[in-house]
Amino acid sequence: MSKKKKILTGDRPTGRLHLGHYVGSLENRIKLQDEYDTFVIIADVQALTTNFEEPEKIKRDVRQVALDYLAAGIDPEKTTIFIQSMVPQIAELTVFYSMLVTVNQLEKNPTIKSEAAQYNYQEMTYGFLGYPVSQAADITFCRAHLVPVGEDQLPHIEQTRRIVRKFNNMYGEVFPVPEAKISNVSRLVGLDGEAKMSKSLNNAIFLSDDEETVGQKINQAVTDPQRIRKDDPGNPDVCTVYAYHKVFNPEEEAGIAEQCRKGTIGCVDCKGILTDKINDFLEPMRERRAYYLEKPEIIKEILYSGVERARKEGEKTMAKVREAMEIDYDADKGFLAR
Ligand code: ATP
Ligand code: MG
Repeated sequence: MSKKKKILTGDRPTGRLHLGHYVGSLENRIKLQDEYDTFVIIADVQALTTNFEEPEKIKRDVRQVALDYLAAGIDPEKTTIFIQSMVPQIAELTVFYSMLVTVNQLEKNPTIKSEAAQYNYQEMTYGFLGYPVSQAADITFCRAHLVPVGEDQLPHIEQTRRIVRKFNNMYGEVFPVPEAKISNVSRLVGLDGEAKMSKSLNNAIFLSDDEETVGQKINQAVTDPQRIRKDDPGNPDVCTVYAYHKVFNPEEEAGIAEQCRKGTIGCVDCKGILTDKINDFLEPMRERRAYYLEKPEIIKEILYSGVERARKEGEKTMAKVREAMEIDYDADKGFLAR
């Protein structure tokens, strides 16, 4: 039996994964998969909270996200990849946790607030408002210690920590209090210069984009709006392309900033250098993707065996939870006999 500490992290199957996911979370998962017993959740139930009108779309994206994981370098021999709805223990735990959270706490959650504004919700469903509770169940169903996520997830991890502390105090120590693991690039800007590259905002470079698409997208990326002519001095600090150089071209980043400030490099050249860098970065992923695309059966097997492993872990946790909460009627033969 593995004595390693556990990681739980994942994504909503609401579209293809992009560079923001890679630097915000995937990279850490790949780095840590040897050291930790890693569980990666494809959060289809959480995707329903904003896409309940088109469940068929979620199903398509489940496969897509699994393929993105494998292409990115998540190793199914080391990491358990599973589908949230197929692990009923998570739903069960969500119900118990719902007693440990107040509506007021959820309404004050800044990520819930900004997402509700993004989706233009006048009113929120119970499921949407409560998704941080379900996420607490995702994280703890396997008694995870560490959660590699982007910055927008911090309020949710804090909510999970509160639930766990309350549970442990009230019923007994069942769960470790999980910690967020935020990467160096906790939020990658979008191609439009908007705060966050996001699947839902149409401002992303996808891990599955081909060379030409990457070039076209970078050509259209927002740069310093004050810079009109090639030799105008620019301000890299307000330039999206420069933000990407910092992440994907750290060796040349400082020199490029200097040349931009002096007006000795134009935006077209600067974008060309970045395009090559990002294409080099994505190339090994394209190769792995091609391998798995030819073998769709393998993806299915990986997911099914991941689900099986996750259910076993969930059952272990639920046995502890039921015992701690004294809702263990099965074990209590005396109760039923009376
Ligand atoms: P959606 O718009 O459907 O919510 P999303 O792009 O926000 O999609 P999620 O599936 O909600 O993606 O998030 C998955 C993980 O990726 C989370 O840990 C999140 O913090 C991280 N993440 C998403 N976008 C970025 C980004 N631009 N920079 C850094 N991390 C990100
Ligand atoms: Mg999101």
